[in-house]
Amino acid sequence: MYQAFIGLEVHIHLLAQTKVFCTCRSAFGDEPNTNVCPVCMGYPGVLPVLNIEAMRMGCVVARALNCHIPEKTWFERKQYFYPDMTKNYQISQFASPLGQRGYLDLEGRGIKKRVRIHECHLEEDAGKMIHSGNVSLLDYNRAGVSLLEIVTEPDMERGEEAELFIQQLRRMVRYLGVCDGNMEEGSLRADANVSINLPGKGLGRKVEIKNLNSSRFVKLGLNYEIIRQGALLDAGKTVVQETRLWNENRDETAPMRTKENAHDYRYFPEPDLPIFEPDAAFLASVDASMVELPLARASRMASQYKLSEEQVDLICEEKALADYFEEAVAAASVPDAAFRISNLLLSDIRHLLARSGADPCAIAKFRLTPKRLAELVTMLGEGRVSQKIVKQTIDLVLAEDKDPSAIIAEHNWGQITDTAVIDAAVQAVLETEAAALAELQTNANDKRRKSIGAYLVGKVLSATGGRADPKLVRSRLEQSAAGCF
Ligand code: ADP
Ligand code: ZN
Ligand code: MG
Repeated sequence: MYQAFIGLEVHIHLLAQTKVFCTCRSAFGDEPNTNVCPVCMGYPGVLPVLNIEAMRMGCVVARALNCHIPEKTWFERKQYFYPDMTKNYQISQFASPLGQRGYLDLEGRGIKKRVRIHECHLEEDAGKMIHSGNVSLLDYNRAGVSLLEIVTEPDMERGEEAELFIQQLRRMVRYLGVCDGNMEEGSLRADANVSINLPGKGLGRKVEIKNLNSSRFVKLGLNYEIIRQGALLDAGKTVVQETRLWNENRDETAPMRTKENAHDYRYFPEPDLPIFEPDAAFLASVDASMVELPLARASRMASQYKLSEEQVDLICEEKALADYFEEAVAAASVPDAAFRISNLLLSDIRHLLARSGADPCAIAKFRLTPKRLAELVTMLGEGRVSQKIVKQTIDLVLAEDKDPSAIIAEHNWGQITDTAVIDAAVQAVLETEAAALAELQTNANDKRRKSIGAYLVGKVLSATGGRADPKLVRSRLEQSAAGCF
C-alpha cells in the first residue's frame, strides 16, 4: 500500500465588475474581443491600476480560509510566452500573496479533516484560445479578468477529499458573493497535484492534472492517477513528473507535457504597481463582507431548528435558500413552523422552483415570498387549512401573485370544522358505502378495518373538496359507524 498526497490549485474568477488592472468590463459570454483596451492587450507603455474591489474580494476569501493577510502585499511579473497573453508576462503575486497559511475544514460524507491552505494570490487571467480545424482563434475578453488562486498544502489523500474540498470552497465563495462558482463556464477551475510513496517516506514525485472543470473529474482523475502511479511503482518503474489532462471520454489521464525542471518564470516585482498596504478602512470593508459560512450556519441551524443533518445540508447548499428559510420561520407564528417549512421547502417548493427553470438563488424573486409562506404555514399549523389546500394555494400564489389568505378566502378553501357539515357528509358516504360499513362493523381483523376506515375517510374528504378537517372526519366517522379503526 502506498500513501497518497494531493494538493490543489484552484482558480476562481472574482465577481468584480471590471478587470483587475484596467476598467474593461469583466463578463462571460460577450462578443469576442469587445471588452479590451490597451492595458489588457499589453500595449507598450500602458499603466495598470489595481482594482480595489478585486483586492477586497480576494482578501475576503483569504479571511474565510483563515489566512493571515500580510501588512504589505505586492505584485510580480511572471514571464512566459503564450499567444493568449499578449504582454508576454502575467501580473501575479509571488513573494507576498494576499493570504497566507490558512486552512479549510472538510466535513461531510464521512470525511473530517483540516486541509492547510498554503496561500491565496491575486492575478490576471489570460485570454481564451479556441482551436477549430487548423486555425486557432483568440478571444481576449478574459485577458486581465481578476483571478484568485488558492493553493493548498498536499494534505488530502483521496479523490473524494479533493472533490469535497472543491464543493465546500465553491459553496463558500458563493456565500461570500465573490465568485459565481460556475465550473462549466470556467469561473472555478482546478489543477490537481498528486504523488504517492511508501508510508512514512514523505512526498513522492508529483503529477499535475490540469484544468479540471468539475469536482467529479477532480475525484476521478486523482483516483485514476493513484492507481496508475501505484502500478508503475509496483512494476519497479518510476513516475515521470509531468502535467497530464483528464480525458472524460476515456475516463483516464493522458500526458500533456513533462515538467522535469521547474519553469523559470523570472519573477520580478511589477514596477508599475505600488505596494499595497491594507489600511484600517480596507480591512474593515473586508470584515463587513464576511457572512456566516456554510458549515457554521448548517450546524447552528440544525440545533436551533431541530432539523436533521440531511435537511440543513440541503437548505444550506445555497445562501439564498437558507436566508429564505430563516426569514419564513421568523415570520411564522406556530411552534412547529421550522419543521413544516423545511418539509415544504425540500419537497414541493424545490420542485416548483426547478420546474420554473429557476435555480435556487432565484428564490429571492419568487412570488411565494418568505412572508407568504409563513402565512400559509401558520394557517396550516392552526388547522385552518389542510395540507392539500396548501399545495393548491401555492400554485395560485405563483400564478396570480396574491397573498395566500386572499386566495383561500376567495375560493372558500378554509378548513371545515363544523361538525354538522361533516356529519352530513359522513352520512351521505355511509349510505352509498353500505358494504364497507357492514364490514367495518363486523370484521375482527384490525388491519382490514383500518384500511376500510382510511378508505371511508378519503371518501368523506373528497366529498368536501378536501376541506374537511381529517381528524374530525375520522372521529365523527367512528362514531356514526359505531366501528373503530
Ligand atoms: P509547482 O512549483 O510545481 O507549482 P508547488 O510547490 O507550487 O509546485 O505546489 C503546487 C501544488 O502541488 C500545491 O497544491 C502543493 O500542495 C502540491 N504539491 C507539491 N508537491 C507535491 C507532491 N510531491 N505531491 C503532491 N502534491 C504536491
Ligand atoms: Zn482592458
Ligand atoms: Mg506553484
